[in-house]
Amino acid sequence: MLIVQKFGGTSVGDLQRIQNVANRVSESKKAGHDIVVVVSAMSGETNKLIGYAEHFAKNPAQPEMDMLLSAGERVTASLLSIALQEMGHEATAMTGRKAGIVTDHHHTKARIENIDPTTMNEALQDGKIVVVAGFQGVNEEGDVTTLGRGGSDLSAVAIAGALKADLCEIYTDVSGIYTTDPRIEPKARKLDKISYDEMLELASLGAKVLQNRSVEMAKKLNVNLVTRTSFSNEEGTLITKEENIMEAPLVSGIALDRNQARISLMGVKDRPGIASDIFTKLAQAEVNVDMIIQNKAHDGATNIDFTVPVSDLFDAKKVVDEFVSIGEIKADSYNEDICKVSVVGVGMRSHTGVAAKAFSTMAVNNININMIATSEIKISMVIDEKYAEIAVRGLHDAYELDK
Ligand code: ASP
Ligand code: MG
Repeated sequence: MLIVQKFGGTSVGDLQRIQNVANRVSESKKAGHDIVVVVSAMSGETNKLIGYAEHFAKNPAQPEMDMLLSAGERVTASLLSIALQEMGHEATAMTGRKAGIVTDHHHTKARIENIDPTTMNEALQDGKIVVVAGFQGVNEEGDVTTLGRGGSDLSAVAIAGALKADLCEIYTDVSGIYTTDPRIEPKARKLDKISYDEMLELASLGAKVLQNRSVEMAKKLNVNLVTRTSFSNEEGTLITKEENIMEAPLVSGIALDRNQARISLMGVKDRPGIASDIFTKLAQAEVNVDMIIQNKAHDGATNIDFTVPVSDLFDAKKVVDEFVSIGEIKADSYNEDICKVSVVGVGMRSHTGVAAKAFSTMAVNNININMIATSEIKISMVIDEKYAEIAVRGLHDAYELDK
């Protein structure tokens, strides 16, 4: 098999850990696999480099920042390659440029445009372990670019896609994706497999494990992604195409998002185009609107409620105020003490009663549901934040996710 193995900052956090990574890579190589390793900077390193730059300037030039930040990953790639060579392996360290990673011009937030895998393939053909510095590429002009914080995952997935690797393993300090946050529900169980779409919906569970950008790219490039821990041999969670999961469970997990705020608009003028006006303005202000509910109109006015991330609340208020001042909205109110719990599973496409069970779970726990939204594979409910944990545990039980 051709395997891309990505090790994050904590996994390469000190010299002993880099040696441990070398041992693990060595084992995979000895098992007969072709290995491409993608590494992050040692944990804390990127922040340290940013701190250095900020010592000299508040707003350092972005091309210089990219040259600086890309150094962290070069350090780990070189050290790991040296360690592997010392163990008797043929290894070669590559910068993003040498690995053929071409990006756009967006310094510090570049997007990968294309990967030319020729050099990596040649090294693999020579039997070498290829060690690539993650998080970086090069633009058309040959300037170093970086992919945004946490971008080494993207490097790994993109490389796996370009090489048509059998597997892309993301090693972190977390052992995989759980049915829900184990800090809330100790009975949470690690999933063997989950589909890309479920993973994207469960983002609040996986956010610390995997960025959504990486999952989206894996889905697009059809990369089989595994998240697992580098600190033991425990198997991780495979994130793959739905077709690869033989017996999809009805529900795969319960996600919790505490970062939502609810905005209520009262006495909204009931005329064609009003929703378009309000939500277009919100979009222009880059407010990320999630759930929307509009009530039946009374006396030419209606109520509209919607949710936004707490971080967008300030911008949303500014937009709403404009409509209040011209009299198109009578009154508005805001509630930050809410949360969104979601039940996610591809199995609900073909089963009935899944939503009813979620609602009755809230009912038996005496939790009032403020808003409901559903998609093909998700049921989301907005409830008061103080009930967040009871709701998560109740739903976890109701769908027997511990079994
Ligand atoms: N070292 C970079 C960062 O801290 C990239 C990464 O670790 O994925 O954001
Ligand atoms: Mg990282």
